[in-house]
Amino acid sequence: MDTGGFPLSRSTQKENRRWLDPNREGRGGRRSGRYCARCGTTVQSARILKGLNLCEFCVRELEKARDGRWSCLGCGKIAPDQLRKYGGYCKDCVCPACGRPDPEAVHKYGMCRQCMTQVGEFCRRCGKEAAAQVRKNRGLCDACAKEVQSGR
Ligand SMILES: [Zn+2]
Ligand SMILES: [Zn+2]
Ligand SMILES: [Zn+2]
Ligand SMILES: [Zn+2]
Repeated sequence: MDTGGFPLSRSTQKENRRWLDPNREGRGGRRSGRYCARCGTTVQSARILKGLNLCEFCVRELEKARDGRWSCLGCGKIAPDQLRKYGGYCKDCVCPACGRPDPEAVHKYGMCRQCMTQVGEFCRRCGKEAAAQVRKNRGLCDACAKEVQSGR
């Protein structure tokens, strides 16, 4: 799924909290000295992504680049620690069952194509045949999904 790139105009409250803003932090206070770790743009002239110290311009550039270091090779999401963990992909692009990257299938079905074929219609935990549930719960039937979620 394409999220339409960078959420500037329709930023939500939650999205805003991830950023240092020229209109807030840029005007003074202990975070007014923050700047982009990549290009040096200061919080006075651009929004800075808090966790990573990247300015909004760099974020946009990196999202497009999909370099596998800053941004996910599959979807362009900026998540360097996830990329390190999953070999260039964010956690939304790797199969939750086997860890294999398969952005297209994982976004669509919640698991990679290989697991889809393997799992087919059977719960990978209890083996029950329940095609619709298994597809919905990424390889688990409703009962098992509930148990796993509650930490069993
Ligand atoms: Zn920058
Ligand atoms: Zn991704
Ligand atoms: Zn898989
Ligand atoms: Zn089950």
